[in-house]
Amino acid sequence: MNWVTEVLRRYNLGEKFSAQQPLLLWPEIGGPQIARITKPIRFTDGILTVAVNSAAARQELFLLREQYIARLNQAVGAAVVREIRFIPGRIPLPRRIPHPPHDPQLPADAAHMFAGVPDPQLQRSFTRLYVTLRQREAALLAAGAKRCVRCGVVFFGDGDLCPGCRFDHSQSVESG
Ligand SMILES: [Zn+2]
Repeated sequence: MNWVTEVLRRYNLGEKFSAQQPLLLWPEIGGPQIARITKPIRFTDGILTVAVNSAAARQELFLLREQYIARLNQAVGAAVVREIRFIPGRIPLPRRIPHPPHDPQLPADAAHMFAGVPDPQLQRSFTRLYVTLRQREAALLAAGAKRCVRCGVVFFGDGDLCPGCRFDHSQSVESG
């Protein structure tokens, strides 16, 4: 039994945190070369959506998807990823992300949120993860990123929808 998963489930936190893990782990799983030409967009309903900057790379990644799914699930410690969708996308050049402003409210929020977690070590891990994610979002937003009006993910680009939601939209227009 995976005790992290067990505790997450018990405190009903599983969805919130598992939801972020495959996104965060993708660059590590893919390695630096893959990380340079791809961008994890979002993770919903077991489907990780990854934008890829060339058709050839998309094809290659598609052939290796089962391997990546297995590695992600192993890293998360639970079978949360069932599919990876590689969609065409422009990968912006790495930007200089300003150091996130220190927000003293974040650790306080986290402490409140995880007050019921009895294991102090686990509580610290959750707090760190929460603060890291929120600071990253704040830094991206400060650097000109936007929040997708549909799924809430923070992204760089034009329009109100993230590339993942734009892709969904274009598919539904095509089929209907
Ligand atoms: Zn979206």
